[in-house]
Amino acid sequence: MTDCIFCKIASKEVNARIVFENERVVAFHDLFPAAPTHLLVIPKQHYTTLNDVPASEALILGELMTTASQLAADLGVAEDGYRVVMNCNGNGGQSVYHIHLHLLAGRKLTWPPG
Ligand code: C5P
Repeated sequence: MTDCIFCKIASKEVNARIVFENERVVAFHDLFPAAPTHLLVIPKQHYTTLNDVPASEALILGELMTTASQLAADLGVAEDGYRVVMNCNGNGGQSVYHIHLHLLAGRKLTWPPG
């Protein structure tokens, strides 16, 4: 997608603090962290929202999750705990329309979210 900021991060057209990358996913620091650790894990393939991922491509969703758990382990926050969340559309609080998994850690997170 030509006008998608996360596609541009994935293609290195726009800089981000990338912490992990493979053929399918990229993880980078959120520009406006909501917790001491706040990473975003995205697929390189553009999917606008979670609603746009067909069941036939569900593997990528698992890879976003396992990438997040591996990063949590690497960063030493897995034992204390962390949260992974994907917002969807307006009521879900989505502001960037390229799916991304938030990995939040480093403080006691409250529940339910606002
Ligand atoms: O779930 P939502 O779509 O609201 O999350 C988008 C996230 O992308 C925000 O946490 C925002 O800070 C982050 N962001 C970023 N770099 C950008 C634009 C947005 O890290 N260039």
